[in-house]
Amino acid sequence: MTVMAPEPFAENEDQAALRQLARDVADRELAPNAGHWDETEEFPDASWEALRKADLFGITVGEKYGGMGMGDVEAAIVLEELARADVSSAILAQLIFNGPPRAIEHLGSDALKERWLPVAASGEGLFCIGITEADAGSAANRMRAHLVADGDEYRLNAYKNYVTGGHKAAACLVWCRFPGGEGANGIGAVVVDLTAPGVSIAGVHKKMGLRGCTEAELAFDDVAVGAEDVLLPGDPSSSDAFKTLLAHLNHERCGNAAMCIGAAQGALEYAIRYMNEREVGGRRLAELQGLQWKIADMSVQLESARLLLLRAVHMAGPHGTPPPMETAMAKAAANLAAKFVCDEAIQLLGGYGYSREYPVERAYRDIRGLCIGA
Ligand SMILES: Cc1cc2nc3c(=O)[nH]c(=O)nc-3n(C[C@H](O)[C@H](O)[C@H](O)COP(=O)(O)OP(=O)(O)OC[C@H]3O[C@@H](n4cnc5c(N)ncnc54)[C@H](O)[C@@H]3O)c2cc1C
Repeated sequence: MTVMAPEPFAENEDQAALRQLARDVADRELAPNAGHWDETEEFPDASWEALRKADLFGITVGEKYGGMGMGDVEAAIVLEELARADVSSAILAQLIFNGPPRAIEHLGSDALKERWLPVAASGEGLFCIGITEADAGSAANRMRAHLVADGDEYRLNAYKNYVTGGHKAAACLVWCRFPGGEGANGIGAVVVDLTAPGVSIAGVHKKMGLRGCTEAELAFDDVAVGAEDVLLPGDPSSSDAFKTLLAHLNHERCGNAAMCIGAAQGALEYAIRYMNEREVGGRRLAELQGLQWKIADMSVQLESARLLLLRAVHMAGPHGTPPPMETAMAKAAANLAAKFVCDEAIQLLGGYGYSREYPVERAYRDIRGLCIGA
């Protein structure tokens, strides 16, 4: 007799219900407008409102601050479902689940938590992350952003490039060098209220994909930063704070992988539906074995990436951080799978796949950006 072991990483009842909720919201509220945000490059305000009304922003924020206290597994479930409909809208949730609020929850003071986590959980405001600069992308340790001491406080001077949602956010987690540091030594992070004097939006990028949720250039000109705004102080004689910040990006990387898997899942499902309808030379595409093999290959790539992601997020536990190697593997696999699956989906639709009137080319353009960002 064959005894089946339980499926690894099977969702519990609450997780399955959360997935269903996210799918319903995505199908009903996000999918119908996804093409509009892409064409117009307008910020997806209606998606924000839909996610807020469904109470989805608070899932990873602690209960004490108005959230549900869930972890990376649940974040990945929701991000996958939202990205299946629209990646630009899913990014709003990614910034809340895995961006600054999670860093504040894990690394911040009680004062920072009390100030910002209710804003995140309720969907009152968006958060963004300022790491990249024009001359410091992959080599973030070369950043120029720095604090100078000003009595008991600091002044921040920085020019951050490619800040997702920076033109719409309430607050930015700015990575910067503390006084006396050099290279990676002394790099820490502060939370800046984007209405503070000295903060300005210098521009927004025009991109290939993810056009609803674009990246901004933010200038910080002598912005006052109080001791209570410091998330993680940089010690000028050590790179420990910088390493902690880098390690904490594993939440974002897993969220990135989840969005790639979701977008690819959407493209795969669309291609299968299309193959069942489209007749070529008197036969439905779905009957052609060569094309069935393509669907099999796409499914294998996607499911492999999904399993690697599940391993990484399950290893984080409910309140931990996904481990580095498993996270890197999950993100790399999900990025590659999404590129392959979305590309093949375009091919399966023939000329229509290349048309902006069909959604698969948008998925391809959207996930391409996720393969570059964290
Ligand atoms: C959609 C999107 C969203 C983003 N959102 C944010 C955000 O919210 N906040 C933020 O701070 N940044 C954000 N970024 C910026 C992103 O983090 C940077 O683009 C990334 O770190 C790469 O930096 P760069 O663009 O300067 O490329 P570069 O550092 O100039 O790299 C160019 C190329 O060289 C390669 N390379 C660099 N160094 C090495 C090396 N040592 N060995 C081998 N290859 C190397 C890189 O992989 C890349 O292919 C976003 C980017 C994108 C595309």
